[in-house]
Amino acid sequence: MPDTPMPAGMADWHIAMRDAARRFAEEEVAPLAVELDESERYPAELYQRLAAAGLFGISVPEELGGAGADVLAYALVMEELSRGYASVADQVGLVELLGTLLTQHGTQEQQDRYLRPLLRAERRCAYALTEAEAGSDLAGLKTRARRKGEGWVLDGAKLWIHNAPVADFAAVLARTDPEAGHRGMSIFLVDLDAPGVTRDRKEHKMGQRASQVGGLRFDNVELPAAALLGQEGRGFHMMMSVLDKGRIGIGALALGILQAALDDSVEYAKQRRQFGQPIGDFQAVQWMIADMAKDAHAARLMVHHAAHMLDAGGRATLEASMAKCFASDAAVQRTADAVQIHGGSGYIRGVRVERLFRDAKITQIYEGTNQIQRMIMARNLMA
Ligand SMILES: Cc1cc2nc3c(=O)[nH]c(=O)nc-3n(C[C@H](O)[C@H](O)[C@H](O)COP(=O)(O)OP(=O)(O)OC[C@H]3O[C@@H](n4cnc5c(N)ncnc54)[C@H](O)[C@@H]3O)c2cc1C
Repeated sequence: MPDTPMPAGMADWHIAMRDAARRFAEEEVAPLAVELDESERYPAELYQRLAAAGLFGISVPEELGGAGADVLAYALVMEELSRGYASVADQVGLVELLGTLLTQHGTQEQQDRYLRPLLRAERRCAYALTEAEAGSDLAGLKTRARRKGEGWVLDGAKLWIHNAPVADFAAVLARTDPEAGHRGMSIFLVDLDAPGVTRDRKEHKMGQRASQVGGLRFDNVELPAAALLGQEGRGFHMMMSVLDKGRIGIGALALGILQAALDDSVEYAKQRRQFGQPIGDFQAVQWMIADMAKDAHAARLMVHHAAHMLDAGGRATLEASMAKCFASDAAVQRTADAVQIHGGSGYIRGVRVERLFRDAKITQIYEGTNQIQRMIMARNLMA
């Protein structure tokens, strides 16, 4: 793959980590992408190799089994893996999010039981927030956990949960005090083989088709006291606190898709000839390629800037929202341009830009839709 511009101020080890992720993406991820997209298969063996390469839990401390790197390293790795195939980056993003929650709020017992095996790819996780009536607005959350003796009983249903068809455990957001609004929500770690847990059917999606998405139902699921992650009533706050990193990750994932579209468009424009010359000689095509490169560069600067802010110990709510929103909007618009540059061949299954176009769309929807990102930006600006 061609090189990408790097902003100043990057440490040598960041570049080494990016290059290692790029090699992994080129050698192990990209060759599987067409097959994974067609088969919608969960590539367990690939995730074991990713974990062995230290790419599960990139910003999780080494003593807990992570790579002990930072958010910038996470963003660099996400871009490269996504350039190989977005579903693989999506899995790394999910592990990073759960890994961060368990690092920040898990007891030692929870870290031994869930975090360490997760980072070794021995156990698979899901992060279950969304419900039929609680999408962008989690105030509609109906899943309920009631105290029973020392423990809890969980009832409710979640939908469109990444990894639900294959996960061993899920972090589930539930109401513990219906009167307390956002302060009445808590997160529980639920083993998905527990009595009363059922998995709804796996969904078939437009893009990122190797990412397994489905529903989870909880009917009178008995949980021990030790299933509560962090403090009772702090679930919404805990979830929000990892969203900056989550959005930086999705921004980087969208950027990887955009960069792949740019790589292919440049190559195609140089070799495809019409009217006796390469189509890259035509200004209409040149401008699409120039806009693609401009957006990829801007998205990279925004993603890296937000990552730097988190690494400096601050929050980056505005910057992470901007980066996620910009990178994903650009990925959707510019992958459509990449299909255009490829003409009819861009519409044919097996030609990479066709898949990139489909893989890009969900980045405008998950981790908070781009309408919600704009709401967050406006609120931050007018606070
Ligand atoms: C492939 C995939 C993977 C997913 N993975 C997970 C997962 O792992 N865990 C999980 O919990 N969830 C997951 N989700 C769910 C995802 O987070 C939600 O789909 C998303 O938050 C949007 O919620 P919704 O679909 O209910 O849309 P809605 O909230 O119903 O929104 C519909 C439309 O209305 C707009 N809208 C809503 N409110 C406003 C407003 N106030 N102002 C302006 N516009 C508004 C939205 O932007 C959108 O365009 C996944 C979804 C998909 C499709």
